[in-house]
Amino acid sequence: MTSNAERYLPPMLADFLAFTLAGDPPAVAQARGELANGVCYTWLELGVLQLEPAAAGEAPTEASASVASVLLSAGVHGDETAPIELLSRLVADIAQGTLRLACRVLVVLGNPAAMRAAQRYVDDDLNRLFCGRHAQLAGGREKARAERLEALTAQFFAQAATLGAAARWHVDMHTAIRSSVFEQFALLPHTAAGPSRAMFDWLAFAHIAAVLLHTAKGTTYTQFTAETFGALACTLELGKVRPFGDNDLSRFTAADNAARALVAGALPPRDGAAMPRVFTVVDQITKHSDAFELLAMGADVPNFTPFAKGTMLARDGTYRYVVERDEERIVFPNPAVKPGLRAALLVIETTSETLAALGA
Ligand SMILES: [Zn+2]
Repeated sequence: MTSNAERYLPPMLADFLAFTLAGDPPAVAQARGELANGVCYTWLELGVLQLEPAAAGEAPTEASASVASVLLSAGVHGDETAPIELLSRLVADIAQGTLRLACRVLVVLGNPAAMRAAQRYVDDDLNRLFCGRHAQLAGGREKARAERLEALTAQFFAQAATLGAAARWHVDMHTAIRSSVFEQFALLPHTAAGPSRAMFDWLAFAHIAAVLLHTAKGTTYTQFTAETFGALACTLELGKVRPFGDNDLSRFTAADNAARALVAGALPPRDGAAMPRVFTVVDQITKHSDAFELLAMGADVPNFTPFAKGTMLARDGTYRYVVERDEERIVFPNPAVKPGLRAALLVIETTSETLAALGA
């Protein structure tokens, strides 16, 4: 075999983003294989690729008892480009052997149709359609995609280890439209078990400045994996959206390094990296009618902006939202939602009690 042949990578591994944007499935003979470094790859669907270390490929049932299963997703919102580029590079580096693979990994580029259109979504917001919510829609591209991603995700975790507190992970990477008091933050889905020490250690390693704890179940991709498969799941908001190729990827280095350490099985010991500040959802502002107005803030108010007790934040006919606690911070304000939907979340800081309650 020549050195050129040894370095040959299937196009979908060399540039998974470009391959996915092109939109064609691989030839049947190229949909799965084993690389020179022993990594087994399987193309499962447009934008969905499974990678397994050598041992796992040879004896799936035995090996899956001893390695973690890590789902890495990006592009659930099609215009959130930077993390999609990071995942595509991560795939190439695993394939070339420059990044060691110690886990089973499922790489998911969430919404290729929206990625091609450079839009958040085509028909419906994909990240509101999980946990079976897609079944309530009559049709649309994202309905079909959510069904398919749920099935492939279930298949991936069905073969995963069940032992060990950190055997299953899901990191769903996004970028925000709105600026934020904390440029990079994480959202943790609501689970019966509550937040875990392993996840907080990882978020600290990723230099995530703030964590938002949901107190009600949502219909996001991470809610689905946390609730259905017991995965340690987080949604990362990593900063501002730009077109493909225009992203300053250096701003995402810490999160990228943390994702790479996770798949390489090389998470550092707890090293005193600053823990994120923690905020817990305490209320929401609901839009009731087209008369709805957000008050006391500009249209571009950053996420996590604090407001003092007594401040009126919204008005809609006879409905008022007035800050009741000493300080409440607004997250994801959006007065343009349809009447009946959430127009903002309100959070309060709960850092000390949350960190104190984490298990060992
Ligand atoms: Zn997003």
